[in-house]
Amino acid sequence: MGLAEARRSRNDKAFRDVSEQQAARDRTTPASVLPMDDTEMKPAPFEYIAATSTAEAAQALAAANGDGKIIAGGQSLMPMINFRLVKPAVLIDINRIAGLDRIEKLGERLRFGATVRHRMTATDALVSRHLPILHDAMHHVAHLTVRNRGTFCGSVCHADPAAEMPMMTLLLDGSITALSIRGERQIAASDFFIGSLTTALEPDEFVTSIDIDTLPPETGWGFEEFSRRHGDFALACVATTLRVVDGVARDVRFGMMGVGETPLRLPEIETLIEGEALSEALLQDVSEALKGLLHPNTDIHASADYRRHLAGALARRALRDAWRRATLCKDRTDG
Ligand SMILES: Cc1cc2nc3c(=O)[nH]c(=O)nc-3n(C[C@H](O)[C@H](O)[C@H](O)COP(=O)(O)OP(=O)(O)OC[C@H]3O[C@@H](n4cnc5c(N)ncnc54)[C@H](O)[C@@H]3O)c2cc1C
Repeated sequence: MGLAEARRSRNDKAFRDVSEQQAARDRTTPASVLPMDDTEMKPAPFEYIAATSTAEAAQALAAANGDGKIIAGGQSLMPMINFRLVKPAVLIDINRIAGLDRIEKLGERLRFGATVRHRMTATDALVSRHLPILHDAMHHVAHLTVRNRGTFCGSVCHADPAAEMPMMTLLLDGSITALSIRGERQIAASDFFIGSLTTALEPDEFVTSIDIDTLPPETGWGFEEFSRRHGDFALACVATTLRVVDGVARDVRFGMMGVGETPLRLPEIETLIEGEALSEALLQDVSEALKGLLHPNTDIHASADYRRHLAGALARRALRDAWRRATLCKDRTDG
């Protein structure tokens, strides 16, 4: 028997086995357990438009009259459509629009186009050079297959409170460019995240790019995330950046995710640290302050108390890292 024949025969057998197993299952499974007939798909029916320009996408979204959805990587949207948690009448695919797949440096900001994949963010030289904190954060995002398709902007638009990109956008004073047939507008990250999976985007608007700050030289950073398994969404996460000037912390930023309905930027913690030298007493104060500030949920993954405890522990680690890196940078520059 030739190789091709052997393969065909194996495949025929595998097919027969599966068919026989299916037939056996059909004989024993009551019809009510199989709600869909063979012609039915998992998602509810929808119209599909592959836009080739931002203007075409904006037109299609407006024409959908509130019943349209943009699809970028599809990594969050498709599961929701397949479970019929969302039933858009029209899916508008932006993947064929030229020019949206770039990361660019514009002055002291990095711009992420709407189809920049997680994989690109994780491997881009501009990101690793100017935003090492984001480069580090990407190690925690999902798995290779998801990173190959999922997009930076898609993640921000999805607005999962335990996802890395929304938190980094908030931490780094991001600005979201939204487009509709009415024109373009900028939305500050601080105004963008309204609630879990809810943003300030109008139904006829979509995001074409997101700009975030780069980190000036001599900035130290710390990123600490805890999840049960690698690639899972975070139970809690702290991201912080600071400089050390004359022995005290300056330009402190402190953000968290996984502990609220949206990603959080915590000015109260930033003020606590600003102008202070890092010490065990300061870390203890931060830990205590977080307990009062955070109101996380209890769910099947962790209790609210556990998340609050995690927040304190992660904050200590992240701040120590940021301080150490800032001091090292400064020593290098001074030396
Ligand atoms: C197994 C698994 C593990 C994951 N783990 C993580 C993780 O650890 N961390 C993490 O951050 N994410 C994780 N994700 C989510 C992943 O990062 C998604 O890629 C991301 O949340 C959505 O990006 P997307 O491009 O796939 O968007 P889509 O799924 O295409 O869209 C998501 C939502 O955003 C909207 N949208 C997308 N792009 C735009 C736009 N340009 N303008 C307006 N609306 C838009 C869509 O209409 C939809 O409502 C995981 C996903 C899976 C399947």
